[in-house]
Amino acid sequence: MDKYVIGLDIGGTNMRGALLDGNEEQVDELKVPSQAHFGIERLVDNLIELVERIRGSKTIYGIGLGIPGIIDSAKGVITAAPNIAHVKDYPIRSVLNDRLGADINLVIENDANMVGLGEWRKGAGKEVDSMIMITIGTGLGGGLILDGELWSGAHGMGGEIGHMTINPEGPLCNCGSYGCLETYASAVAIRRMVAEALSDGSVATSLRDKVRDAGPADIPELVMEAALGGDEVALGIWQALGKALGIAIASLQNLLDVDMVVLGGGIANAWDFFIRTAEEEAALRGFSAPMEKLSIEKSVLGDDAGILGAGYLALKK
Ligand SMILES: [Zn+2]
Repeated sequence: MDKYVIGLDIGGTNMRGALLDGNEEQVDELKVPSQAHFGIERLVDNLIELVERIRGSKTIYGIGLGIPGIIDSAKGVITAAPNIAHVKDYPIRSVLNDRLGADINLVIENDANMVGLGEWRKGAGKEVDSMIMITIGTGLGGGLILDGELWSGAHGMGGEIGHMTINPEGPLCNCGSYGCLETYASAVAIRRMVAEALSDGSVATSLRDKVRDAGPADIPELVMEAALGGDEVALGIWQALGKALGIAIASLQNLLDVDMVVLGGGIANAWDFFIRTAEEEAALRGFSAPMEKLSIEKSVLGDDAGILGAGYLALKK
């Protein structure tokens, strides 16, 4: 009988699932709303319906689940997840085993770890043994693949690259600390930098008109547009992001000496505006020998990385 697994990527708005065969090839895919704002019970109902639809009459051996939040992967528990309403220490693995079948092997990881695994198996990192994934979206997520294994920490809570301190005097972060990488390199950071630039009414920038009626989600795209038009303020925002990334990459490479850093997530689409600054800053700060061996690449799988990584982990375990 063919061996199938399902890889799932749970987001605050949507969840996606892919059916993978034993060769890690994707044979089917579905996307449904997660309705995470209604709470974890609704999300689990939607998740089960998604799994039932994908598996049809096939036998599923395992399910990999990437969830945004702090995940205790050993226990299969969501410790905390800011994007899912009212969730704390939720035993998602046992809940799903009760409802889907006790014989299904369920692996749960932070979503950024799954993205890292996917990009390493099937994307930019498929030729290397050690890789750091940095996903720059609303926040900043990290995934560490060391010597062909996901390193999610002694308690499954590691790889939080977004909360490395870049500037001790920097802005307050969602985590309660100050000057984390995420406060300089994320959609939230872009919005803060735009607001700060515009607070000085004497600064001339095309952003003033562009963002006036824009929703928060549209602002990074508008800063890309302005940079493309040569706007100095917009270009400066991408350089600030690149500099912070470069500082973080230098520290990570001094610590870990990996083959590759892969940058993904929606904000990484501004690649041309920040990558040179990031590379220069990393070269300036990191030890030269490991920095020269490091390549910094753009994600090639985009949104598919998370489901492919989750499916791979389900096949492997
Ligand atoms: Zn933080």
